[in-house]
Amino acid sequence: MQFTDLGLAEPLLRAVREQGYDTPTPIQQQAIPAVLAGGDLMAGAQTGTGKTAGFTLPMLHRLAAAGPKRDARGRIAIRALILTPTRELAAQVEESVRTYGKYLPLKSMVMFGGVGMQPQIDRLRQGVDILVATPGRLLDHHGQRTLDLSQVEIFVLDEADRMLDMGFIHDIKKVLAVLPAKKQSLLFSATFSDEIKALADRLLNQPALIEVARRNSTVEAIVQKVHPVGRERKKELLAHLIKQGDWHQVLVFTRMKHGANRLAEYLNEHGISAMAIHGNKSQTARTKALADFKRGELQVLVATDIAARGIDIDQLPHVVNFELPNVPEDYVHRIGRTGRAGATGEAISLACVDEDIFLRDIERLIKRSIPREPVPGFEPPAGEKAEPIVLGRMTIGVGGTRRHGNAPAGRGGGGGSQGRSAGHGGGGRPAAQGGGGGRPAAHHGGAGGGANGGRSASGGGSGDGRPRPAQGGPQRHDDRPRARGQAARRDGGPRR
Ligand code: AMP
Repeated sequence: MQFTDLGLAEPLLRAVREQGYDTPTPIQQQAIPAVLAGGDLMAGAQTGTGKTAGFTLPMLHRLAAAGPKRDARGRIAIRALILTPTRELAAQVEESVRTYGKYLPLKSMVMFGGVGMQPQIDRLRQGVDILVATPGRLLDHHGQRTLDLSQVEIFVLDEADRMLDMGFIHDIKKVLAVLPAKKQSLLFSATFSDEIKALADRLLNQPALIEVARRNSTVEAIVQKVHPVGRERKKELLAHLIKQGDWHQVLVFTRMKHGANRLAEYLNEHGISAMAIHGNKSQTARTKALADFKRGELQVLVATDIAARGIDIDQLPHVVNFELPNVPEDYVHRIGRTGRAGATGEAISLACVDEDIFLRDIERLIKRSIPREPVPGFEPPAGEKAEPIVLGRMTIGVGGTRRHGNAPAGRGGGGGSQGRSAGHGGGGRPAAQGGGGGRPAAHHGGAGGGANGGRSASGGGSGDGRPRPAQGGPQRHDDRPRARGQAARRDGGPRR
């Protein structure tokens, strides 16, 4: 079967041809006719199967054929809404909408949290046919009446299983409640749990059912485990795991960039090629590190959450949380870098007693417990007690998040707390992510550099959790721990 056999309009076929595709993938062969026919669809397909074009192409065809609609204020009305679990996926999907729709007069927009509302409001005012959004920010706009969803004709729930894993069910229900009852609904999910089936029952009306084979049917999902370890032995354990397992292409997350640098140095000293990637590096150095890593010439890339957001890598065999994030949603983003498309993926967390509190929050968010597997010889020392984690002038962990005055901070030095939450000092996320029109700077690989660029860091805590005296001076964004709860707004993540 060729794309030309599917009944798609010529401008779409031209765009597809330009991408170099002749043959539709199995999901496209089934989904495109089903969506063109106008009915609901429940599709079992994961990333890598070509599912995005599977719903985007027929959606564009139908919208173009019907012609634009105006809302009450005379603006082009939103006729298609695509909900995705993460900002990265939202950006990718909207990119596909623009790629395939480049010869059609349809306007699209991506919307997610963590960036300013105003550019999104401005963009909405100009009129949008197709909106790709994460649920949290979508609801924020709806709540502020800056968004009109009353004319939506096609609704797509992409990666529905990941949405539920991330705790979005309440947000999804709220979105469904404000959409018109009469619409075409498409649900894409890699797995069909009872929860997904319940959601499908609620959303879909006599749907066509499509399921395509996984690329690798042996691995269901990301294998997650926690290796409990003594506070001081994480580096050793990581080097041990990498060597024992002969791991290549390992993405390691640290909380702060100082920790990332020190860890990369340690690994290099121990015969493991590693590089820390963050905004203090020049763009050339970052690009080279990433290219080497993708080619398999660099074994380990060490990144902070913000730096990682700017890099286009996923489907990695190993993702390691050298430190658990204090914002549970970041855990989900991190482990999403592995195991997609059914490839073997392992997400490993090295957790010391100080991080138990973060682990509990993560497990609550993902609604499952992550198996603890101590590595012989690296078990936490008996009687090790949880202590707050010092990050520059902040402490997080036991005792809550505290910001300290100018007094040097040290482990346990919580006395100088001014009782402010860390997140409030930060003024939100780095300005570099606030690109106009809702486009994420991060998607283009520039956010890390832009967010962190230029100035050298001051003082700061250690990424490996060891106390270091703070040297005063302003904390930079990348080093500023976020208060829990703040991330939900930033990421368009679930509200709890
Ligand atoms: P997706 O599963 O939608 O994330 O798509 C996975 C990748 O397959 C993307 O990079 C698409 O550009 C690519 N792709 C989509 N459709 C086709 C096709 N018919 N032939 C070859 N590649 C495709």
